[in-house]
Amino acid sequence: MTVLTATRPLDTLADFPAIPDGWAYLDTAATAQKPRPVIDAITRAYDTTYATVHRGVYARSADMTIAYEAARERVAGFIGAASASEIVFVRGATEGINLVAQAWAANQLKPGDRILLSTLEHHSNIVPWQLIAEKIGVAIDVVPLTDDHRIDLDAMAAMIRPDHRLVALAHVSNVLGSVLDARRAAGIAHAVGAKLLLDGCQAVPRMAVDVRDLDCDFYVFSGHKLYGPTGIGVLWARADLLEAMPPWHGGGAMIDRVSFAGTTYAPPPARFEAGTPHIVGALGLHAAIDYVEAIGLDAIHAHEAALVARTRDALSQINSVRLFGPETSAGIVSFAVEGVHPHDIGTILDESQVAIRAGHHCAQPLMEALGVPATARASFGVYNGAADVDALVRGIERVTRIFG
Ligand code: PMP
Repeated sequence: MTVLTATRPLDTLADFPAIPDGWAYLDTAATAQKPRPVIDAITRAYDTTYATVHRGVYARSADMTIAYEAARERVAGFIGAASASEIVFVRGATEGINLVAQAWAANQLKPGDRILLSTLEHHSNIVPWQLIAEKIGVAIDVVPLTDDHRIDLDAMAAMIRPDHRLVALAHVSNVLGSVLDARRAAGIAHAVGAKLLLDGCQAVPRMAVDVRDLDCDFYVFSGHKLYGPTGIGVLWARADLLEAMPPWHGGGAMIDRVSFAGTTYAPPPARFEAGTPHIVGALGLHAAIDYVEAIGLDAIHAHEAALVARTRDALSQINSVRLFGPETSAGIVSFAVEGVHPHDIGTILDESQVAIRAGHHCAQPLMEALGVPATARASFGVYNGAADVDALVRGIERVTRIFG
């Protein structure tokens, strides 16, 4: 059933200067547009308060350090971390996963151990594990999907074994929008002593996330999908895990003391943040979190779920359209039109001011499982409303007319 909130945007459209009138931006799963408060926070920092962090003895640098660390505190509160020291700033989810692979898995896993992934993972939650698996001699197993394209947790429970040391799953699929029952996944993983990493890229902008409530061990996400800037992202890990992890990048800012006789390292999170960080990116992320929390993650979730329902309702009435993914999903709909390549769908929609993504969405194993080379994907954000869905549906009707 389509709920009322789907009939209009969350009254936020005016906050987004890069969305012109009449442009249906339906590619938020790739990257979100930026609201004015985020743009202002970034501009203000470079215009008026900019300096380095952690090292300067002058007041401006001390102030910038306070602002940078306040962003870390804000992230910690946003995802329910026990402390800001559990928040490592990274470039994005990709770097966060590579960090866990290189600093945790490469040191904890031994030949013969196994890693468990799922069919629907983004390449950035596959390739980092393959890189270390090859090096160490670790096997990778893959949890299949249910008929409605969710990660099959019954299958996961049946196939997991004590030599699985790590399970890494998407909290929300970037292609299908399927939402993982993360607590159940954590229970299954922990029952054999495995750690659970959740790729929260598509979850954090779409639903309230509390890492302790989810009971996971690692959580990653990217700022740019959360209405923040590119180049900043977050790795959260439980304090005991971070403390036991050696550094992965060496350089300034991550050390305790350096000498040619030997170097000692700073405690987390500094140990994992070598070099000058993306200072203003962290401030932009802080503003983005303020922005989404002012709207409310539950309101955003309900709004996007309603847009998904409206989209699926309308597209399912077009004979040649095949919908992927479960009926209820978090803000993302993938589909195909019989006999039309998704790239052609995307090009024709673009002529009507509708921007969607077409391709494999960095999820080639999922495409193989779905039996298609690519899909068309519409993904929603706080600025979308029913008019955008209707423009998409009119565009798809045009596609079917053109391809007869
Ligand atoms: N995981 C998922 C589920 C994603 O959607 C994305 C971005 N498409 C990533 C990981 C990688 O994020 P980034 O490119 O920002 O590092």
